[in-house]
Amino acid sequence: MYNSKKKVIVFLILLIVLVSSTTTGYNLYRDSKDEERRINEAYNQVYRTYNETVDDLNAFYHSRAKTNIEIPGVIEAFRKQDHKKLYTLMRPQWIAMQRENPWLVVMQFHNADGTSLLRLHQPEVYGDPIALHRPMVAYTHKTQQNVSGFEEGRQGLAYRLMIPIFDRGVYIGAIEFGVSEPYFTDKIHRFAGYESFFFVNKLLLGNFARINDPIEIGHCIGMDIPVQYRPFFREYSKLHSKLENTFFSYSYKTYQVNVLPVKNYASKQVGNILFIRQSDDFKSHTRHTIVASGIIMFGLIVLTVLIVDRIYRYIMTKMSFQERYSQTILDSVPSPVIVTDGETLVAANSSFLSYLDYDTIEHFKKEHACVCEYFEAGDTNEFLMPMHDDQRWTEYMLNHPLKSHKAKMTINGFTTIFEVRISVLKVNDEIRYVVIFNDISVMQMQTMIDPLTKIPNRFHFEMVYEHTIKITQRTNDRLSVIFFDIDHFKNVNDTYGHLVGDTVLQHVSELVSQLIRRSDFFARWGGEEFVILLPDTDLQEAAHVAEMIREKISTTNFKDVGTVTCSFGVVMIDDAESSEHLLNRADELLYEAKYSGRNKVVY
Ligand code: GH3
Ligand code: MG
Ligand code: MG
Repeated sequence: MYNSKKKVIVFLILLIVLVSSTTTGYNLYRDSKDEERRINEAYNQVYRTYNETVDDLNAFYHSRAKTNIEIPGVIEAFRKQDHKKLYTLMRPQWIAMQRENPWLVVMQFHNADGTSLLRLHQPEVYGDPIALHRPMVAYTHKTQQNVSGFEEGRQGLAYRLMIPIFDRGVYIGAIEFGVSEPYFTDKIHRFAGYESFFFVNKLLLGNFARINDPIEIGHCIGMDIPVQYRPFFREYSKLHSKLENTFFSYSYKTYQVNVLPVKNYASKQVGNILFIRQSDDFKSHTRHTIVASGIIMFGLIVLTVLIVDRIYRYIMTKMSFQERYSQTILDSVPSPVIVTDGETLVAANSSFLSYLDYDTIEHFKKEHACVCEYFEAGDTNEFLMPMHDDQRWTEYMLNHPLKSHKAKMTINGFTTIFEVRISVLKVNDEIRYVVIFNDISVMQMQTMIDPLTKIPNRFHFEMVYEHTIKITQRTNDRLSVIFFDIDHFKNVNDTYGHLVGDTVLQHVSELVSQLIRRSDFFARWGGEEFVILLPDTDLQEAAHVAEMIREKISTTNFKDVGTVTCSFGVVMIDDAESSEHLLNRADELLYEAKYSGRNKVVY
């Protein structure tokens, strides 16, 4: 019971652990998928916003370039490289366009020969060979196509758009517009909702000496990082040697950091837009989930153990009550009753214990493995033995349900015959046999006494004889047997009739009964033959008893008949002599007595 309780608890705990870890694992997996989806969404949003911003800028400033060129006199001034005229024409436009977009930092007219014609943002500087320092400008002159991308210039980093200008099919130069990078971070903030920052590759872009106290992550330098974010990136740069998509914990919060590449006119990556997004801290979320499910699991386990314990205690009380209940019923049965599993005794009633003279089952079990150790062989095959044809007695009884089964047991020298009945109780794989022993000795006794002479019959003799021999041989005692037969008894019958013969048999029995000791056992063997068992008696003493009997009978006057004589064979048991052999010897001596003249004792 205790073991099965342990098994049940272990099984339930394993079940709880399995179920909770599976659900926790599944939830975490789902959460991580969710998080992944959110990250992708955020990235796509920023990516789209950035690209749309670039597209819009291109479309917008192409249209502005066209509008400006169409102002009368502009093309002419451009072609003639008339700096002053062009400035006068363009200045109002420049002012209007700056108002329109505060991040517009560059508007410049480039001559096809690679010199600068007019910088509206710096009108006093012109005529310099700018194409030598600005690959994007040289590239535009070479290809005479629209070119755009991030590039460093006098005004610093900007997204620049170069628009080629033709006069009647002849390339006369290009107009450049430059928008500084906060334009993009501003758009990203406005349309995607994320804080973003520009980091440019210092190896690919020019001179950043103007940035003091720069924040460097790998080869990248942060541009215009707002003061409040500087400690954030300082911390980030300590933990990360380059810009990468990652989670980053700062000041008890977790941020998801994502990087979007930015390119120059030749599609070469020259930097990154880095955007941050406060995120559910997935690691700590995982930790919390695991801790929470651990606590729940622990709670469930404690609860389960308590409940199982409760249930078992309830069952145990119920069971012990049931046990006492059935024990009471068992004890109220007057016949011995046992419950066995086929091998050992499981329960027994008080009648059984008192019959075998034990206080408790435990005492009995200490000395005996099986009640069948008591079984004695009888004169018929109804008598149970521990084993029958390789079957245990219990199995044997079940396999022979129609047969009557008896058990002969001798306790303290007193033999009892039981009629034995068995019933089977099967619960799952366990089998219990309930065996009841009904004492039928009294009934048996009635068939043990010879009705004519009122002395024990041959059946009774055999029962006592077997038992006495066993005890004698165990205790190394002496045991003698007298066998005697009435001489020429046939003549008595023939002469005086059977009834007279009967009275002679009765009279002889009475005479012998009076002459022997109480411990001797006198029985009618059959017909006019008798047998006497004499425990603790040697051959001489037995022969003496026989002689005494012979004399008494031969000197007695039997009614109607007169004198009757008997012949005697007397033997004493040898060591290890069989019961059968002993009787044969007595019989032989009796016949010796007969043939040597009768009315004799031979020993
Ligand atoms: P022996 O001296 O050789 O023993 O001769 P016997 O005549 O006694 O032996 P036998 O075996 O020839 O005869 C025994 C007789 O005993 C035969 C039988 O009729 C008789 N007898 C056996 N049982 C009874 C009984 O219960 N009552 C009476 N009246 N006679 C019996
Ligand atoms: Mg005879
Ligand atoms: Mg005879």
